Amino acid sequence: METPGPPVLGKEPVSRKSADFRREPDSNVRIGFFYFDTRRTPRRNREEVSGNGERASNTVTMSLFDKFARQITDLRISVTDRCNFRCVYCRSADPENYREHDEILSWPELQRLAHIFVGVGIGKVRLTGGEPLVRPGLEQYVRYLKSLGVHDLSMTTNGHLLAERCDALLEAGLHRINISLDSLDPIKFEKITRTSSYDTVMRGIDKAQATRFAPVKVNAVLVRGFNEDEVEAFAAFARERALIMRFIEFMPLDADRHWSRELMVPAAEVYERIHAQWPLEQIPNEKSETARKYRFADGAPGEIGLIAPVTQAFCGACSRIRLTADGKLRTCLFSKDDYDLRALLRAGIPDEQIVERLRSVVNEKEAGHRINEPGFVPPSRTMVFIGG
Ligand code: SAM
Ligand code: SF4
Repeated sequence: METPGPPVLGKEPVSRKSADFRREPDSNVRIGFFYFDTRRTPRRNREEVSGNGERASNTVTMSLFDKFARQITDLRISVTDRCNFRCVYCRSADPENYREHDEILSWPELQRLAHIFVGVGIGKVRLTGGEPLVRPGLEQYVRYLKSLGVHDLSMTTNGHLLAERCDALLEAGLHRINISLDSLDPIKFEKITRTSSYDTVMRGIDKAQATRFAPVKVNAVLVRGFNEDEVEAFAAFARERALIMRFIEFMPLDADRHWSRELMVPAAEVYERIHAQWPLEQIPNEKSETARKYRFADGAPGEIGLIAPVTQAFCGACSRIRLTADGKLRTCLFSKDDYDLRALLRAGIPDEQIVERLRSVVNEKEAGHRINEPGFVPPSRTMVFIGG
């Protein structure tokens, strides 16, 4: 019988001008292999955050609820669609897929929206992207969010620029940090991220672990044929480094549309494998939390988190909404439509009217995603544009 071929994920880069790429050394898995020169400065927005706390207010006028009586308290803000990585499960190998700068919300626009959101009860903000650290001015924005009274302020980063920015982020008032790391093997890391940044990311993790960000959360998206053989190694990493290792199911949000159920590694499989080696005990969690959390029964340090949006959806208690870098409000990662807040800002609509629109959009938040239903169509916006 013929052995099925390895999964194919990621496409060949389309532009040879700007990319130095080559075939991967190991032909086990076929992917577009692309080196992004992380020493070159990516195109970025140049403006700085203006003012500091001018609009600050802790007044909660009336909380946001949807029609299922879910209170919306968490906002994920994508501050940029740009990224210095091209992870195969996220971003296309095509480097020419950024929004123009004037399409991206400016820092003053992001400040205004944050002020409005905090006014309707958003207390938890996660900064994301693209890669949030490639946009200059992030620390000032963190400081502004802190001045608004955001009580849980976090960021998700690929870690490449973290070692050098960690102290400034702490000083600005960031509370928590999640760092993506999809392999503990530098060669595989290169295949997945299409960069050679393994050492810099590890330095970022070490640096963050040596500060009050510890224990950091390290996120790995498992993709069969790439890194699913590393589950136990990641668990050992959590134990050795006393950090929180989280496994995220691959979702159909990749730019190259290669997602399939066969490529996804279900959280139950990850649990079984770790539990067989180091028995796990569940840690109680908030209903709205995305991760199921486990400690090691033998008392070793570290923690495991399983995030299973595909196989064990947690939509019923969802408290999240998302703001894309170009100012669209999304009530679900998988929303078919989003709502253009940027147009309201730029048309000079007053805050009170923006709040009214927010309420009516949030009211219509989807009951849940439909990944597991027949005829599911992935959203036109992919993860790098929405912000994870
Ligand atoms: N660039 C930062 C990073 O990689 O951490 C922040 C943005 S990234 C879009 C946020 C999170 O989304 C990361 O943890 C990443 O691994 C995850 N992610 C991206 N594409 C995904 C996909 N198709 N399925 C599941 N998670 C994904
Ligand atoms: Fe960039 Fe993060 Fe997407 Fe990787 S997962 S391509 S680092 S935005």
